Amino acid sequence: MIEFIGVDKTYQGSDAEIHALDNINFKVDTGEIYGVVGYSGAGKSTLIRCVNQLERVSAGQVIVDDKDLTALTPAELRITKKRIGMIFQHFNLLNSKTIYTNVAMPLILNKTPKSEIKERVTELLEFVGLSDKASQYPDQLSGGQKQRVGIARALATNPSILLCDEATSALDPDTTESILKLLKKINKEYNITILLITHEMSVIRDICHKVAVMEKGKIIERGSVFDVFSSP
Ligand code: ADP
Ligand code: ADP
Repeated sequence: MIEFIGVDKTYQGSDAEIHALDNINFKVDTGEIYGVVGYSGAGKSTLIRCVNQLERVSAGQVIVDDKDLTALTPAELRITKKRIGMIFQHFNLLNSKTIYTNVAMPLILNKTPKSEIKERVTELLEFVGLSDKASQYPDQLSGGQKQRVGIARALATNPSILLCDEATSALDPDTTESILKLLKKINKEYNITILLITHEMSVIRDICHKVAVMEKGKIIERGSVFDVFSSP
């Protein structure tokens, strides 16, 4: 579960303050696929970055699995952050590391025992259909395959939430479809809550249960995908 309560985020611009998030209130229930759509500059990235605390909010609360992230100690925050995975538009893989090591990275950083890492990475690569690529490097993979690696890495620590930042925006339509299918499967089989941001309406229509439309730091419309898109 993710909840925003009265969240504001301001950045200091060169001449004026930028109000990237302006009194954001919304809730994503456990097991939902929730999409946030809006034009460039609407505040979508800022919103998602406040969930994994890549950004600190200026005011308000961000609740994840019943914990107020804005009130946690650094040690508590580290534990909660393991429950949140994230995938990116440009995959953010380490190009000098093998696919195996890329997927293993969150577990290596966690000091997980090597035998456990091997078991988990093998299972994840099989899940995303890349078992035969373990010893290759990101440059040897297609865009869709790279995003599968990103997904496997995001799932390594068994998160309850997956954040997707324009995860299919750099992919062609067929590859987009295969990645969206994989996200649906993750949501269904592992009951992982998915919060995604996109500027592509088709992504929202294809996989989201609910949608919020953002404009200039505000949520201007929200509801079930059916209701929002069938309103005049
Ligand atoms: P979106 O993801 O919808 O394109 P962003 O969240 O990236 O929107 O940006 C919202 C607003 O905040 C924009 O006006 C953007 O220029 C501004 N912004 C985002 N990040 C920063 C930053 N680190 N410093 C200053 N302004 C920022
Ligand atoms: P590309 O990036 O070349 O378009 P895909 O990302 O569609 O390739 O698929 C990469 C690999 O994953 C292929 O070997 C494919 O057979 C396999 N694959 C495709 N869909 C799934 C799935 N839902 N589950 C597991 N493996 C899959």
